[in-house]
Amino acid sequence: MSIENQVPLLRNLAALDGVLARLEAELEQERAKNAARRQQKTELSDRVAGLEAAVREMERTKSELTQELRQVAIQVDKAREKLTRVRNEKEANAATRELEELRRIHREREKEIEKLSGLIEEARADVEKATTARDTVLAELGETAEAEKTKIEALEEEIRERQKEREQSVQGIDRQTLRRYDAVRARRGSGLAEVVEGTCVACHIAVSPMLFQQITRQQEFHACPSCHRILYYLPNRSKEAPSSAAKGQAEEA
Ligand SMILES: [Zn+2]
Repeated sequence: MSIENQVPLLRNLAALDGVLARLEAELEQERAKNAARRQQKTELSDRVAGLEAAVREMERTKSELTQELRQVAIQVDKAREKLTRVRNEKEANAATRELEELRRIHREREKEIEKLSGLIEEARADVEKATTARDTVLAELGETAEAEKTKIEALEEEIRERQKEREQSVQGIDRQTLRRYDAVRARRGSGLAEVVEGTCVACHIAVSPMLFQQITRQQEFHACPSCHRILYYLPNRSKEAPSSAAKGQAEEA
């Protein structure tokens, strides 16, 4: 098959590959968005669980302190009663000291419990805030998850269709040319470039006059000496409006 006949097939393939690349980028973006939302949800749930565990821990301590407070109260009662049964001043002094010491411990425990109650209240407020934040994200997720899933599926379907189209469109292309095209495309994102006024439109390098002459003869394909894309030349370029394929390639360079 002549080069002249290969060029439209390659241009068609390059346009299709441009569409596929855009679709794949969009799909990747959608998947990343969805994954980020799931990650956020997990983090918020973990945060709620962590705060709840902290509250439980503080409540356990508070309950232990309350138990202790009751014991001290009993000891205070006993000490008070002992004070009524003293037989001399020495015993009275000792009983008073014991009672004061127990009352001091009682006050301390009360203060500790009060402080802990304040902390528990703050922690509960944090739990509530974190729960609200989590539920907001969950509600958002519920609303958008379906839309996102639909969009991702639609993109996957379109990519499958375009890939089938691609399989068809490579049929007439010379195998060796296609291998070269695919190899450069894998590295550079596109594998084909037009030569306009002696310049590769993809990398903007001017080819040598000798190479340009060889390209215009259209006897075989030549690679750009700089970007290695397969170069092609349209003899009737001036009659044709600047093609979107050429513009697309220039942007991707
Ligand atoms: Zn080039």
